[in-house]
Amino acid sequence: MDVQQKLDVLGAGAQTDLACGSCGEGQVRVRDEVGRWIYPAVRPDGKLIRMLKILQTNACEKDCYYCATRRQRDQPRATFQPDELARLFDQIHRARLAEALFISSGVVGGGTRTLERMLATAELVRHKYGFRGYLHLKLMPGAEPAAIERALQLADRVSVNLEAPSSEHLAKLSSTKRYTEELLAPLQIAKRLIDNNPALRHKTMTTQFVVGAADETDREIVARTAQLYRELQLARVYYSAFQPVENTPLEDHAPTPLLREHRLYQTDFLLRKYGFSFDELIFDARGNLSIEADPKTVWAVNHPEFFPVEVNRASREQLLRVPGLGPVSVRRILQLRRTQKFRTIEQLARIGADEKRAAPFILLDGRVPARQLALGL
Ligand code: SF4
Repeated sequence: MDVQQKLDVLGAGAQTDLACGSCGEGQVRVRDEVGRWIYPAVRPDGKLIRMLKILQTNACEKDCYYCATRRQRDQPRATFQPDELARLFDQIHRARLAEALFISSGVVGGGTRTLERMLATAELVRHKYGFRGYLHLKLMPGAEPAAIERALQLADRVSVNLEAPSSEHLAKLSSTKRYTEELLAPLQIAKRLIDNNPALRHKTMTTQFVVGAADETDREIVARTAQLYRELQLARVYYSAFQPVENTPLEDHAPTPLLREHRLYQTDFLLRKYGFSFDELIFDARGNLSIEADPKTVWAVNHPEFFPVEVNRASREQLLRVPGLGPVSVRRILQLRRTQKFRTIEQLARIGADEKRAAPFILLDGRVPARQLALGL
């Protein structure tokens, strides 16, 4: 294969990985052959960037039952040599098509050897081509500490896709991956390295779950997520609704509704941005989040003793519990109420709050705004 053909095969192979923070389809996707694999992505500081997402190789010795790249599946295989991929990215970067790079890989010869080939690419990108921009490296299953340390030195962010919330669930997705020793361990090693070396303190980690393929519950995913945030200080957890791939063992498994993925992201926000703990979240009898209502509204409806919240006096923490108010609108409320009183529902709408969702749960200067809405005021 020539470089363009490899780019096509190995760009396609990387497209389902979300742990790099890419937003999928978006306005800054470039419409040429290279640009098909360049994605809008969010840098840790919140800046939107264009990222080339690519595999070093799509050969793989693992057998993940949901994966198009799994070892038994008949499909074109390709491998970038480190200098080939580094040169390609340098050309893309110099052409101003992308300013960030995400490298993942199928596993060939074990996790450490695979990661070492990715590191060879990263070394060239950094030191031969002088790239100083954003680099995200996937840590391979079972990679050894020295390779993980080098990855942290070269990359801004590293990730391991746990895919499932426990070893029992992972066993339903792969016979060749070990949860604790191969997937959790690299994250734990990276955390220790970051904690013990001030030069690595700004490096961050993420992971991804494939949702619904192992018949796990939302409670199990969210419990693991909360633990990862608490114990490993992961920057983000990503959720990917399972979609069956032809000619894989899970091709007949039902796809996961995107709304389930959405509810997990909403719950994740409650953990990271709204001060909720795992114990406060409400799951149904089967251990799943409500599909009908968002998790914050479910909590509010189940805690009538907490409401109504007086917008002009409530603390930040209380305001963040109100459906329809988010961190940005709460910050604006706290700023504006130093100089003015909130008396009408329109004032909340003007600062970007979802006033209709908030109305049943608040007081505005002692009054129930739900009545304003009912009367069309
Ligand atoms: S390790 Fe599993 S998920 Fe990753 S490329 Fe190989 S088969 Fe796919």
